[in-house]
Amino acid sequence: MNYDVVVVGAGPVGSTAARSAAEHGARVLLLEEHSSIGSPVGCTGLLSTRAVAECGLRPSEDFVFNSVRGAFVHASDGQILPIDGKKTKAYVVSRKSFDRTLAARAVEEGAEISLRTRAVGLDRDFESGTCGEKADRKSSPTSPVSPASPSFPTKLRVIRNGRPETINAAVVIGADGVKSRVAQYAGLGKPARILPGVQIEAPYTSEDTDFVELFPGSPAPGFFAWTVPLDEKVSRIGLAVEANRLGKGENPLSCLEKFLSSNPHLKARYGGGMLDFVMGGIPIGPLEKTYADGVLVAGDAAGQTKPTSGGGVYTGAFAAKIAGKVAAEAALEGDSSAARLSEYDRLWRKGLGKELEIGMKIHDYMGKLEDRQLNELIGSLNTPRILDTITEYGDMDHPSVLMKKLMLSGNSLRLMKAFGTFVRTLF
Ligand SMILES: Cc1cc2nc3c(=O)[nH]c(=O)nc-3n(C[C@H](O)[C@H](O)[C@H](O)COP(=O)(O)OP(=O)(O)OC[C@H]3O[C@@H](n4cnc5c(N)ncnc54)[C@H](O)[C@@H]3O)c2cc1C
Repeated sequence: MNYDVVVVGAGPVGSTAARSAAEHGARVLLLEEHSSIGSPVGCTGLLSTRAVAECGLRPSEDFVFNSVRGAFVHASDGQILPIDGKKTKAYVVSRKSFDRTLAARAVEEGAEISLRTRAVGLDRDFESGTCGEKADRKSSPTSPVSPASPSFPTKLRVIRNGRPETINAAVVIGADGVKSRVAQYAGLGKPARILPGVQIEAPYTSEDTDFVELFPGSPAPGFFAWTVPLDEKVSRIGLAVEANRLGKGENPLSCLEKFLSSNPHLKARYGGGMLDFVMGGIPIGPLEKTYADGVLVAGDAAGQTKPTSGGGVYTGAFAAKIAGKVAAEAALEGDSSAARLSEYDRLWRKGLGKELEIGMKIHDYMGKLEDRQLNELIGSLNTPRILDTITEYGDMDHPSVLMKKLMLSGNSLRLMKAFGTFVRTLF
């Protein structure tokens, strides 16, 4: 069993990486530990229009429940900041159908999929820093290469259908999510922080299904709570927190229970009970290094999630496409050494690194504000002129663009008052 590229994890990032590697001529195997793609789900499924496009898909009723164009930001004193993007900015999707569509695309490009296959170990044979002889093949199932071939120096140990096996690869891409084993096996460490989150899908009377609702501050210490409408009657209601900002005896679930039962806006609209329940972790702060001999990591495994929103599909897909291409090219050249694979690290950071860095500063700043300060901030943003700037430049994937525009607009004095000198330190 020799493959140019083996991708561990058939989430959106793994399937996108597998498709990209196959498009670039590699023989690809995509592994998923579960017996079904897209299940269990640990996501709100709010994907920017750009995220869907980055995954190579068009919005389709196969996976889209609803489209949204903005957000109502709720302050604890009852103020509401209406942010209207004026056109569709994001889709609310079924992650199960979305992930399956992406996996099917990878197969269409030639990737093989193996379900019920869990990566449990990694051995690598990289004495010289390269993997030896130049591969003279576009390897295919009909021209097997012997297991000892130096073209496949990365040996992934798996349990497939309950039985141990070894799969030889030139490059293994770890797209195995927030608890990535591949990153650990390759000695690449863990994301700086993981925000625990919890969410229900529940009866909820939405006033306007074109808008999500955001609740920063005390409902979700260090991050925010949300409602995301599937339709007029059902929404996804959840929150994520900075664990070290929780009080004694608090956890994300107790915060959600309190939010549902004590927030006046929620109390008036939440119908009780739940149709679905999700728990998960949002990794923020990318790994210092996302490559090693014979290994790349992408998506949640690499901590590439946006620290401002917790969204990881756009950034993960952006990196996955690069990972697939670099892995395929390196495999076909016969050099999957860390030095060769470092191209991936350089390219994804060129596209995303600064945004994630600024996002982390915004996350840390906002997460420390008390309700009183947030109320002031929301109040100072609530002017027609600033709202117009937000409409024009607001971008859930690139919040730094709006920050820059706000600073350079005639509103900067007002904003300086609200943000203090923080905005000066952003860029
Ligand atoms: C509560 C919550 C809400 C969120 N909401 C949003 C949102 O609205 N929009 C957004 O963009 N992002 C959101 N995110 C983040 C988003 O879910 C992730 O960023 C995204 O799923 C990352 O994709 P991935 O492919 O890297 O990892 P995952 O989607 O986690 O996929 C990893 C895959 O690897 C498999 N796997 C793991 N270990 C192994 C192994 N050893 N062997 C084989 N397979 C393995 C898993 O079964 C899984 O299928 C949310 C996260 C949480 C927790």
